[in-house]
Amino acid sequence: MTDRKVLISGAGIAGPALAFWLRRHGFHPTVVERARGPRPGGQAVDVRGAARGVIERMGLTARVRAECVDERGMAYVAADGTVRARMSVHAFGGEGIVADLEIQRGDLARLLYEETRSDVEYLFDDSIATLTEVPGGVRVDFERAAPRTFDLVVGADGVHSRTREAAFGPESAYLRPMRAYLAYFTTPYPDDEGWFLLHNAPGGRVVGTRPDRRGRIAALFSFVSPPLDVDRRDAAAQRRILAERFADVGWRTPELLAAMADAPDFYFDLYGQVRMDRWSAGRVALLGDAAWCPSPLTGQGTSLSLVGAYVLAGELAAAGGDHRTAFARYEQVLRPHVLRCQQLPAGALSGFLPASRAAIWMRDRSMRAMTSRPLRRLATRAFFDKADGLTLPEYVPAR
Ligand SMILES: Cc1cc2nc3c(=O)[nH]c(=O)nc-3n(C[C@H](O)[C@H](O)[C@H](O)COP(=O)(O)OP(=O)(O)OC[C@H]3O[C@@H](n4cnc5c(N)ncnc54)[C@H](O)[C@@H]3O)c2cc1C
Repeated sequence: MTDRKVLISGAGIAGPALAFWLRRHGFHPTVVERARGPRPGGQAVDVRGAARGVIERMGLTARVRAECVDERGMAYVAADGTVRARMSVHAFGGEGIVADLEIQRGDLARLLYEETRSDVEYLFDDSIATLTEVPGGVRVDFERAAPRTFDLVVGADGVHSRTREAAFGPESAYLRPMRAYLAYFTTPYPDDEGWFLLHNAPGGRVVGTRPDRRGRIAALFSFVSPPLDVDRRDAAAQRRILAERFADVGWRTPELLAAMADAPDFYFDLYGQVRMDRWSAGRVALLGDAAWCPSPLTGQGTSLSLVGAYVLAGELAAAGGDHRTAFARYEQVLRPHVLRCQQLPAGALSGFLPASRAAIWMRDRSMRAMTSRPLRRLATRAFFDKADGLTLPEYVPAR
């Protein structure tokens, strides 16, 4: 077995999941994460289709279920709270807009870290500074730790991946912005509805609340906009943008905006998809959002990361650590599935963020129609069965 020392950049979902499977197959992974610990934040993310099989094979189904968010479904509401359209969690066999296996992103990241920390080396509060391919390995200079050489490096450092930048070139070549922004944060307000509620306002704006597992409400804001001149790390400027854009919106918007200043986990980003012709260059490979971010609109990001981690580790093991063979197989097995999951049905963005009152009314009507019997099969094909499109290969773990 060759190429066994693997550096993984990013301890989100994809990174620790890859570390889990690499350990099972007898590799020695190290994970470097910029944050000081597993990063909290994010709303409920869906575990769909083939990813359920991966969680099952990890032996984690019971733990994930125990930490699941108990959401009853999703509903669009008017400014006075009247429900305009709703979709229960049981619609579409538990694979609808709200899936029946939903866990908060921060909880899943922590759980995967806890499952791996006893036999995986984690370097928190650090980051790759430079990567240099040397004979038989990759020399890595870190921002804080001493330089080291690894057999392979995997970038699982999210949609703005620094590993991708270092090994493949600038983000602008791969990230396709989608003319809309998204923000999430936890509020101190209690939840007594159990529903994911969304209120649209004209101008392509939506405000939402979701129950979290601790009985509080997490807030979601999203709006249509061309790319804005705002620094990704300037949370104060991002908060100002939200406050201005949503100043005239009713429903619970004022109290949610008031909670934004003290939120411990404020998250703000542009919607976008990552498209790449190749996910590896020499001894460096990409995984998860770094390689193929499908955008949160698809609801597939977490599931694809879990499946991708399983396949990448499995192919490395099957090839005896030979990265050339393994990286080629990884792409062959996964790319068609990723491309399917990245496809957004026409009107997905304008359906989530309708521009006018009339468009909001139409969207509510089509959501009601979608759950009716005649249209349910059509909607399933357009939206909800993509995650099933891969039969997980069998890889025999060493332990
Ligand atoms: C805070 C946060 C909240 C999110 N909330 C949601 C949500 O509510 N709904 C949703 O659908 N998707 C959300 N996402 C995206 C979602 O997690 C991903 O689509 C999906 O789970 C794929 O996971 P990933 O591991 O590839 O990327 P991510 O989960 O984004 O993880 C990437 C990790 O890499 C780390 N990192 C970044 N740069 C560096 C660097 N230079 N060096 C070392 N480490 C680095 C990040 O801190 C992060 O821990 C969120 C992501 C983050 C980071």
